[in-house]
Amino acid sequence: MASEAPDRHLMPTYRRHLTLVRGQGSYVEDASGRRYLDWVAGIAVNALGHRHPRVLEALGRAAERFLHVSNLYLTEPQQELAGRLSRLTGLDRVFFANSGAEANEAAIKLARRYFAQQGKSGRVEILAVSHAFHGRTLATLAATDKPAYQQGFGPLPRGFHRIPRSDEPGALLALRRGIGPQTAAVMLEVVQGEAGVHPLDPEYLREVRRLCDRWGALLIVDEVQSGMGRTGPFAAYQRVGIQPDICTLAKALGGGLPLGATCAREAVAQAFQPGSHASTFGGNPVACELALAVLDLLESEGYLGEDGIVARLGAAFGRRLQELKAAGLPITAIRQVGLMIGADVAVPAEAVVRAAEGEGLLVNATGPHTLRLLPPYTTTQQELEEGFAKLEAALRAVAAEPPARDGAPPGAGPAAGPTEGSTPLKERTPRA
Ligand code: PMP
Repeated sequence: MASEAPDRHLMPTYRRHLTLVRGQGSYVEDASGRRYLDWVAGIAVNALGHRHPRVLEALGRAAERFLHVSNLYLTEPQQELAGRLSRLTGLDRVFFANSGAEANEAAIKLARRYFAQQGKSGRVEILAVSHAFHGRTLATLAATDKPAYQQGFGPLPRGFHRIPRSDEPGALLALRRGIGPQTAAVMLEVVQGEAGVHPLDPEYLREVRRLCDRWGALLIVDEVQSGMGRTGPFAAYQRVGIQPDICTLAKALGGGLPLGATCAREAVAQAFQPGSHASTFGGNPVACELALAVLDLLESEGYLGEDGIVARLGAAFGRRLQELKAAGLPITAIRQVGLMIGADVAVPAEAVVRAAEGEGLLVNATGPHTLRLLPPYTTTQQELEEGFAKLEAALRAVAAEPPARDGAPPGAGPAAGPTEGSTPLKERTPRA
């Protein structure tokens, strides 16, 4: 009898073919024992690599107490973590969820309820930036600007509007026109990750903050990908010197376990009273214990800050990419903040991803011509050399491939356009 394909019972939305069986440090391994340098790091999850000894130690310690308790009760790690996040974000209170989408969903609910409780029930609109990614639940999908991801899932919740990204024409004008007394919140990523690593202009960000203050709207900053030190400081908004009213974290927060956090300033947080919002697993004590271990390491081992390990390692990655570009490899643009790294390529990005995988390096494509690198902060000099040798080999191999079947030479692809189809300030939600 022919055996079934191992992915036979997974929904076809899982389209990758590689099955991983273990990881250690900067590497993961497949079932055949092949090792790969992991420069996607669980998409910004494994900030300190796989199975960091201090994280495993915390896991053992946490498992001695309990794996989970009802969310009718509090746990010590959850309370301690809330305090740590409050200090690190400059916000007062934390709600714990299980993922980035859930943390953002809670942020949107919190913003709307904050105004509803003041009797301003018409103040429901959320302005989100073009090319944004905030998650896959219905509300976060409405805030997300990826039409392909929204296809077939309507009707999405109403009240979400698009504002242009800072590099788009007329962005500031559209921002000033779009915000008003109906705006509950402006929601943004300081560095857009899924769009291919696009940092928003600092002046645009400061203007968003000023306009939110002027109109009494809230600023929600999604730090799900850029937080936990990935851009250098703990949160990317700290690079620009703005303070959000709400900020969300997930991915690297739980040290490899699912954990999200919605942090808010005191007055806003008061909108969530007992019964307002809850999650069975959110704030799981084991995940919180791991988060504390990751934060201990980030803070005590010099990863954070302007001259921290992330910033210095990021600069080294940037230099190496520039060298590849200067050497004539098909890199057309490099965008980078700390260890959030995007590179546009003049060849199909998916082909580079596959070729790199063949070389034993995991990177990912965020668009037809955009690669993203999210290496662990613990990457050594030797791993950096190894990774760039593999990336160079992959780029060379793809550049040397014969023209694609449609007749376009490998170098003739358009520059990466992360997503199309956002209409400034147009209601995106199909009406029921
Ligand atoms: N926000 C941002 C900025 C993200 O990058 C992501 C995930 N890529 C999410 C939200 C959603 O997180 P999750 O997949 O944990 O729901």
